[in-house]
Amino acid sequence: MPDRIVGGQSVRDRQKPLRMEPIQAIAEPLLKELYPGIWKRAEADLDQIPRLFYEGVWREHADEIMADIYAFADFHPVDEQRTDGAIKAWSQECAAELEGDYDQEYYRIAVQVGLLAYVNHMRELRTKVNCDIGWHRIAERFNDACSSVVGYGFISAGEKWGMLSLSYRCDPAGVETCRAAERVAVEASQRTCELCGRPGELRPGGWRKTLCDLHAAGRE
Ligand SMILES: [Zn+2]
Repeated sequence: MPDRIVGGQSVRDRQKPLRMEPIQAIAEPLLKELYPGIWKRAEADLDQIPRLFYEGVWREHADEIMADIYAFADFHPVDEQRTDGAIKAWSQECAAELEGDYDQEYYRIAVQVGLLAYVNHMRELRTKVNCDIGWHRIAERFNDACSSVVGYGFISAGEKWGMLSLSYRCDPAGVETCRAAERVAVEASQRTCELCGRPGELRPGGWRKTLCDLHAAGRE
């Protein structure tokens, strides 16, 4: 088993990494809870039709569904914004762009349960993120970029020398992909206020922090 990578160095792994399975798979329990009529796989052909429509919409529109899920998270970077009501409204808006009543309805359901699953998973991820909320979305995007890499698992994120510091596990074959995503994340943290997510820069001082003008002013 590969050791985890911390700041470019390998160290012995002690924590269990968090791994995100494909969204459609982790959305199944939510589909069962909210739309049991679609979730069930009944014997009678007629009962299977909703299930076939649901799977069809994922098959034909997986990329668009994922893009809509990530866009919601970008527009609602703070967990408190990610309410069930906001998710419902978002999925309705996204579906309205499609043609045809059936496509619209099943697309709406796919985005809704997919988003609920994604947001739940991100709540779990945030228990391993030890920096202020301005950088939470940066850590999530890093995780999104790596989640399909074989052997990848998120271990933790924190602040070090005013920058985002990530630790994760991955197999040797995936190191380059993860390192590239890590560079993007660290670079983003260097120009994002850790406290609020607005544009910021590294502020010198006894305790170096990347902050926006407003938060830097409040610090003096
Ligand atoms: Zn700020």
